[in-house]
Amino acid sequence: MSSTRCAACKQLRRKYPSDCIFLPYFPPNNSQRFSYVHRIYGASNVGKMLQQVEEHQRGDVADSLYYEAYYRIKILYMVVLELFLFYMKKFVMYNANWLKYKLKLTYSIKMDFILSIPHFTS
Ligand SMILES: [Zn+2]
Repeated sequence: MSSTRCAACKQLRRKYPSDCIFLPYFPPNNSQRFSYVHRIYGASNVGKMLQQVEEHQRGDVADSLYYEAYYRIKILYMVVLELFLFYMKKFVMYNANWLKYKLKLTYSIKMDFILSIPHFTS
């Protein structure tokens, strides 16, 4: 019985309803497919969308929802990663410039001190 539960019923820990609308489109061996769709649209909305169309169109609807959810999640991750790298680079450059400035300052102060010693100037 547990092998006939679809990915939705497994993830949502539902008892297997005999007329589960998700079963043909979200098979138990591909739980990632349902996971993406659930994260973007919510399981109940997906169920409603599948019920609103003819039975022969449901496969295409499920595929479309999956592809859109998949790419929305992937793009979100890519944008977050890009932003992270952008600010990381800024942070590193700022610290490098600050370090350079600090070293320059320290070096020039030391040089001023060394040059102020009478032994070196005479
Ligand atoms: Zn199910």
